[in-house]
Amino acid sequence: MKSPAIRIATALILAAGIAAPGVVAQQKPARDFDKEIRAAVESAKTAAGFDFLGTLARICLLPQSGGENTNDTVPDYITKPASAPARDTWYADPAKVFDNLYFVGGNIHSSWALTTSQGIILFDTIFPYNSEELIIGGMKRLGLNPGDIKYVLISHAHSDHIGGAEMIQKQYGARIVMGGPDWQSVERYPNRYKTMAPKRDIVATDGMKITLGDTTVTIWETPGHTPGTLSYTFAVRDQGRPVNVAYSGGTAFNFVNNTPNPGIQNFQTYINSQRHMAEQAAATRATVILSNHSEFDNAVNKNRMIAGRGNGPHPYEVGAEGVQRYFQVMQGCARAAQLKLEQQLAP
Ligand SMILES: [Zn+2]
Repeated sequence: MKSPAIRIATALILAAGIAAPGVVAQQKPARDFDKEIRAAVESAKTAAGFDFLGTLARICLLPQSGGENTNDTVPDYITKPASAPARDTWYADPAKVFDNLYFVGGNIHSSWALTTSQGIILFDTIFPYNSEELIIGGMKRLGLNPGDIKYVLISHAHSDHIGGAEMIQKQYGARIVMGGPDWQSVERYPNRYKTMAPKRDIVATDGMKITLGDTTVTIWETPGHTPGTLSYTFAVRDQGRPVNVAYSGGTAFNFVNNTPNPGIQNFQTYINSQRHMAEQAAATRATVILSNHSEFDNAVNKNRMIAGRGNGPHPYEVGAEGVQRYFQVMQGCARAAQLKLEQQLAP
């Protein structure tokens, strides 16, 4: 015996089916792209909460750059060093963040020194005009020896992260690790990378492990921000307690994103990379998310909070669930932007 509700529903379905006898193929209702875009942004906002407002603002709310960067001109701060941004716009104090991880970055961009039993692994450098003071100077202030730098892992070949790699390779003989496509960019644009072009060294692959003494960093290919962008997982110690870190290597949408082709595919590459990295973060139970811009992980403010921490929780620890939310912000914002391009193709 059918319930009245089912009977009414069945009658409605039958009525709908015979209501338009002349129509051969039933038309699907038009997709409501605006609604889908709002939902994607909303999911990113919910995931961001109060923890990741900088990332949310950068990739969900602010306008994005669009086209491919094919310029090969020497940057002004190389040809006219006096035109480099004033020191007080970028200077920040170095800080010991974990037992074996040190912040040696600036007010905007970050560089991190991971100490091991056999030397130092450095994550990212900064511009050519401030890597010497912030990284080398910062390490010395913290009692670290720059001569101990054995590896420099460059998340991607943009001048705000690769700017000190050539200098550290030349002065300290450190090995440089970077994604294959980003090594190619460095070689393709000799003027753009003037003084920032380390000699080709280690080409990273997905799952590659860099081991130095008692410490291993695992590299994950996360193309999107650039074709060779890398992210990492590794462990640090907080007052002796092991803590797992996920390091997100590229964030903003400064790939070609202003036309459906190749924008839709570029966003898909980016989204897939964030899923890949979220899986690795979950597998290693990462409770800390780090990046190379304070805008995204709030590093400079958190460094100040460490000083007043007392016996409280570590300010960088957002929990495993928090780390997953970080990657949901990236995915939600990328999906919203991808939907806008799909909308352009809709009839
Ligand atoms: Zn970049």
